[in-house]
Amino acid sequence: MTRNIGILGAMAQEIDEVKALLTEKTIVKIANREFVVGKINNVRCVVAFSKWGKVAATITAALLIQEFAVTDLIFIGTAGALADGLKVGDIVISKRLVQHDLDARPIISRFELPLLNRVYVDSDPDLTALAGRAVSNLINKGVESMVGEEAVKEFNLNPTLYFGDIASGDQFVNSIEKRDEILSLLPDVLCVEMEGAAVAQACLEFNTPFTVIRTISDTADHNAHVDFGRFIIEVANAYSRAIINEIMRLV
Ligand code: SAH
Repeated sequence: MTRNIGILGAMAQEIDEVKALLTEKTIVKIANREFVVGKINNVRCVVAFSKWGKVAATITAALLIQEFAVTDLIFIGTAGALADGLKVGDIVISKRLVQHDLDARPIISRFELPLLNRVYVDSDPDLTALAGRAVSNLINKGVESMVGEEAVKEFNLNPTLYFGDIASGDQFVNSIEKRDEILSLLPDVLCVEMEGAAVAQACLEFNTPFTVIRTISDTADHNAHVDFGRFIIEVANAYSRAIINEIMRLV
């Protein structure tokens, strides 16, 4: 089957950089969302801004799957670090996704997805490995293969790639208390964001392979807001463009 890869990103500017990679573009608008259909390195792709939060991202993911018949879905964006040792500019690729704000106790256990009998949704091993190869190639070439030298100095970038659990919730986490609360309940989680686990649930129900790639933009504490905007523009956008381009070269 010809691959038709859906690419979702949580920041409009970030996804604009990915859209710029597309050739033979067609734009389709549905439900206040713009889907750009085309090719990247000759691979058929559909690229869209997910919008923020679990509900918005679920709507966008479901449309990508149902209306555009994507064969795979890649989510790319930023996240706050939870685990010790992770630093701004590192990259996390998902093994499992969990909704840290889901709690239907006492009906079912904390974090369990209603009617799905599970807490975690696994990302697709092949797609996750492919994303890992792409990120490793770029890191091995040097971070300058993704971003300009000035940004490397300014943000002191020396990226490490991690594979692990990602938690999502409808909350921008920017306090030590909230960070520690999530970690105490879900100790294996590497980072926190607002869409990945929702997209994972949509992909589980539609039986669509997916993976989530997140650049660490902050440490999910009181420093979380500092320079977030500049980091997105100067680093996260450039990372996303380079990573998606490399993935499509390897497909
Ligand atoms: N301040 C931004 C909006 C960011 S919304 C602006 O004005 O443009 C936050 C996005 O970044 C979400 O898509 C979420 O997935 C991700 N994110 C990054 N760090 C996060 C954190 N500490 N907690 C939750 N989400 C985070």
